[in-house]
Amino acid sequence: MVKETTFYDVLGVKPGCSQEDLKRAFRKLALKYHPDKNPNEGERFKQMSQAYEVLSNPEKKRIYDAGGEQALKEGGMSAASSPMDIFEMIFGDGRRKRRGRDVVHQLSVSLEELYKGTVRKLALQKNVICDKCEGIGGKKDAVEQCRMCEGTGYKVQLQQLAPGMMQEYRSTCSKCKGQGDHIKSKDRCPQCLGKKTIRDRKILEVYIDKGMMHSERIVFTGQGDQEPDREPGNIVILLEQKEHDVFVRSNNDLKMRINLQLVEALCGFQKVIQTLDQRNLVITSHPGQVVKDSDIKCIPCEGMPVHKDPFTKGRLIIEFRVNFPMVIDPSVIPTLEQCLPPREEVIVPYGSEDCPLMDLDTDYEERERDGHQHVHAHDEDEGGSSRVKCATN
Ligand SMILES: [Zn+2]
Ligand SMILES: [Zn+2]
Repeated sequence: MVKETTFYDVLGVKPGCSQEDLKRAFRKLALKYHPDKNPNEGERFKQMSQAYEVLSNPEKKRIYDAGGEQALKEGGMSAASSPMDIFEMIFGDGRRKRRGRDVVHQLSVSLEELYKGTVRKLALQKNVICDKCEGIGGKKDAVEQCRMCEGTGYKVQLQQLAPGMMQEYRSTCSKCKGQGDHIKSKDRCPQCLGKKTIRDRKILEVYIDKGMMHSERIVFTGQGDQEPDREPGNIVILLEQKEHDVFVRSNNDLKMRINLQLVEALCGFQKVIQTLDQRNLVITSHPGQVVKDSDIKCIPCEGMPVHKDPFTKGRLIIEFRVNFPMVIDPSVIPTLEQCLPPREEVIVPYGSEDCPLMDLDTDYEERERDGHQHVHAHDEDEGGSSRVKCATN
């Protein structure tokens, strides 16, 4: 009987399974939950890596089976390797090289460019394998194994936690900086000075397709920094859409606002809208139609093109704002009244109270929150008051 089964459960195996079963289970899960494929499952990937590290090590497995995770911790035998190292240990059998880091570059694009599509050239600096020494760093026979770490690139230190309990620490070798070897200074490659790589300027052509989105990623596989014995990482171009003066994008729709004068809202209007590809669209509200403030209308098929289906387009959504006049000359009111639908008749009950109708002071609540002290000071400065004393009967 084992004390607990958590590590077995994480890998979906039964206690007592063979090492072969264990390895197979881990391989399957690790490929599925590797952060490259499943960036949101980092914690899960870590858990299964730890579980595998313990269960695949006979000594650690014995301690775990007998006393659970607590016993491992007490014995200083908790999982020590990083999840990535364990992954490499299982899959890195020569066929698959370690991959370098991805490098992300932001590229600022206009809404017009996302609408019409374009090609942008991007000049980048990147590390490439030195062509003079072919990534060796010097003459072939000039490479010597690092004596400090015996070619491993790291130092192992043991620390005693308690009598009989040792903890293993690994740190990068300071002499060869993790390379495992170094080159005698007189034999170093004159071009890269023994660094094996050189900086190179590269022009990337970035194809921005019609309809691509803000924060969309364009990946150049294997175009990242080169390093000896490593598969180069990717260059990732992250699109950043600049704000547009007129249009706001919402998925495949475009939104805009049009201000109308009251006369236009009531009596009809024509407006010209310039599209992102510089065509002019004219919209008409015919006499007899009324557009109210905050009315929303749309033009089908004048939004953004759909990515990978650019002949399909979203809608152009227009919100209307009506500018009301600030005042009206009282002498024209009778004429105006004749044109408009009649008012409702109001009966004022006997004894009704006359009240002032004031503009709402929107700063009022804010000042109230800051405390009364502030309100009084403000009133004195301004010489007026928004606080009206209520008459008490
Ligand atoms: Zn070189
Ligand atoms: Zn070393």
